[in-house]
Amino acid sequence: MIIPTLPANDVTSSSLVFDIKRYAINDGPGIRVTIFFKGCPLSCIWCHNPESHSPTVQKMYSRDKCIGCEACVDACEQKACILTADGIVTNQELCVLCGKCAEVCPTKATEMSGEQLMVKDIMELISREKSLMDESGGGVTFSGGEPLMHPDLLIPLLEECGSRGIHRCVDTTGLANKELLLQVAAKAELFLFDLKMMNSEKHLNYTGVNNSNILNNLQMLANTDVDIIIRIPLIKDVNDDDQNMNETAEFIAALPGKRREVNLLPFHHAAAKKHKKLGQSYDPSVLGEPTQVRQLEIVDIFKQVGIQASIGG
Ligand code: SF4
Ligand code: SF4
Repeated sequence: MIIPTLPANDVTSSSLVFDIKRYAINDGPGIRVTIFFKGCPLSCIWCHNPESHSPTVQKMYSRDKCIGCEACVDACEQKACILTADGIVTNQELCVLCGKCAEVCPTKATEMSGEQLMVKDIMELISREKSLMDESGGGVTFSGGEPLMHPDLLIPLLEECGSRGIHRCVDTTGLANKELLLQVAAKAELFLFDLKMMNSEKHLNYTGVNNSNILNNLQMLANTDVDIIIRIPLIKDVNDDDQNMNETAEFIAALPGKRREVNLLPFHHAAAKKHKKLGQSYDPSVLGEPTQVRQLEIVDIFKQVGIQASIGG
């Protein structure tokens, strides 16, 4: 992969963002603004944000919010929206993702996921929250999807935030070009680094990629000065077994540098509604949350190697 040459503080750079969350309290210290970039190199089957996977704009539709007014049908110049007995159906071959149907929908039954935003747009929003961030010891978190897939936007944003004294956190899958990761680490105070499972073949089955680059990148990042919190999703019968948890704890304990904090994130079915809105199938019986007893046993596995793990984060 070639690292793009980036002009410093190019406020006209833009990229696709699918959400901006204000008052975020689970994405790093204090009260934060979290920017969610669209597009991810992984496709984890348990992902809470399935709309983050695709690097392109997507149309989302909620049947239960639709009042059948046909405003979207009238607005669509491509004749791609059709009102049926099952609600609005979109002809994907005709749809050009222009978003006109979403603009006129009075109930937000139709929405578009993904908006092209520039550095200056995002900095304007961040600046409005600066006093709250300062008072709470918070800052900005760049998340996704994978924020490192968007260096043209991410790097100028990190530089802009840095020049204004705003705490910067990057929430990553860890699958990124090494040089870019180091470049970003030098411009951030904290990484939230996702670690799914140690068995590479299983990792490939559940996420679409093997884990060798991710593990190598975590080891490399641990050699820098940036703070790292490792975040592990806990999914029943997928990665919560003793073998995986022991191997994960030992891997983290062996990382160079200071002791790392671990956040364990029990799976929940929050994504079910989003899959439906995207027209994707979702089987709730496939994935589950480990019991509270099991969660505490896992905390103990980390404790045995001297690592403080907490549920949530
Ligand atoms: S996004 Fe545009 S082309 Fe697609 S259904 Fe809506 S109005 Fe029609
Ligand atoms: S505009 Fe919205 S509420 Fe009206 S028919 Fe279309 S999707 Fe349903």
